[in-house]
Amino acid sequence: MESPIFLDHHSTTPIDPDVFSEMIPFLTQNFGNASSSHIFGQEARRAVEKARVQVANLIGANPQEIIFTSGATESDNLAVKGIAESYHRRGNHIITTQIEHSAILDTCYFLEKLGFETTYLPVDKYGMVDPEQVASAIKPNTILISIIHASNEVGTINPLAEIGQIARQAGVLFHSDAVQTIGKIDVNVDHLNIDLMSLTAHKVYGPKGIGALYIRRKKPKTRIKPQNYGGGQEGKIRSGTLNVSGIVGFGYACQIAQTKMQKESERLIGLRSRLYEGLKEQIDFLHLNGHPQKRLPGNLNVSIEFIDSVTLLEKLKNIALSTGSACSSNSSAPSKVLTAMGIDDNLARNPIRFGLGRSNTTNEIDFVVARMVEKVKNMRESSPLYKLMGSEVEPSPQNRIKMVN
Ligand SMILES: *Cc1c(COP(=O)(O)O)cnc(C)c1O
Repeated sequence: MESPIFLDHHSTTPIDPDVFSEMIPFLTQNFGNASSSHIFGQEARRAVEKARVQVANLIGANPQEIIFTSGATESDNLAVKGIAESYHRRGNHIITTQIEHSAILDTCYFLEKLGFETTYLPVDKYGMVDPEQVASAIKPNTILISIIHASNEVGTINPLAEIGQIARQAGVLFHSDAVQTIGKIDVNVDHLNIDLMSLTAHKVYGPKGIGALYIRRKKPKTRIKPQNYGGGQEGKIRSGTLNVSGIVGFGYACQIAQTKMQKESERLIGLRSRLYEGLKEQIDFLHLNGHPQKRLPGNLNVSIEFIDSVTLLEKLKNIALSTGSACSSNSSAPSKVLTAMGIDDNLARNPIRFGLGRSNTTNEIDFVVARMVEKVKNMRESSPLYKLMGSEVEPSPQNRIKMVN
């Protein structure tokens, strides 16, 4: 197998060729500004509104509740800062979790400097947030709860419907970063009692640089302060000339994801089990990170004792994998998500994240299993600690997980 294998679909996805075809006219002859009143503008506007319906349909929202942004980083910033600014007279407390994307965490750190107060909820050993802990963290001054739908590292799916109900009963707004779940599992803003939701196109086979924030319009009407000012586009919430081709691509990607979701998630669960079973059978001391069932169909995350994951991935040159999230640049630091799950430091430093997606085949999975098993065996041959396993002076549980590279 010559061409590289892409197993990093949590970091991004290739653009679907049909999505690309839909976009092309809006990069060429239909180049109008969607705010212009002439024929060129009208054509662009029609395409944008069609895409808004497609995005809204995927999450059970009304089209008017979709605000296009440059991606989920912007949506997360807009949601948290926009709510903080809009509701600060009511209170200054935000509840979130220790396993959020940095777009949420760093925004909360910033708000703390302005006088806001944040509770970072822990997770259980599977990486799941406990709704009861959310309930007990709510205070009279709580204005927002922001909880990631599924972890981009371990893939664990949080019980948003229960948390949403708690938030609703307490009269607190509820935001979720649903980047990893839209188009992968059922996501419905009403079933989940969501008031704000961050989305991005490039994780669902759409283009990069385009995303959306869902903002509930009724029951309750959610008021949000814009975070950039200008031409007043997107209901004055997000000024800036619309990225028409990106929006068209995002809309079409959502429509495709909706039709393919059921079959594709079953296929990915099958491939994922094949991968996990194959590795587990041939590699001892392999630990699954995350929930055994309640996880994204395409996600597998493991730590292998006596194996430095960065070194292993370097040896697997033609296989695109990641140790943690693509955005955590410091690879030697333990994963914040795994640490929050209470996982031993040495295992938390060495996760291997597989992100399976549409392009992956059974052949690829079998190839990856074979190559990984081979490299792990090689690496362990030079590991004195591993060699002690099963001998009379078996290493202590603390030492076992220490790496030797
Ligand atoms: C990728 C990702 C983001 C960032 O999205 P961009 O559109 O790349 O800004 C935010 N949250 C999660 C959970 C992600 O996986």
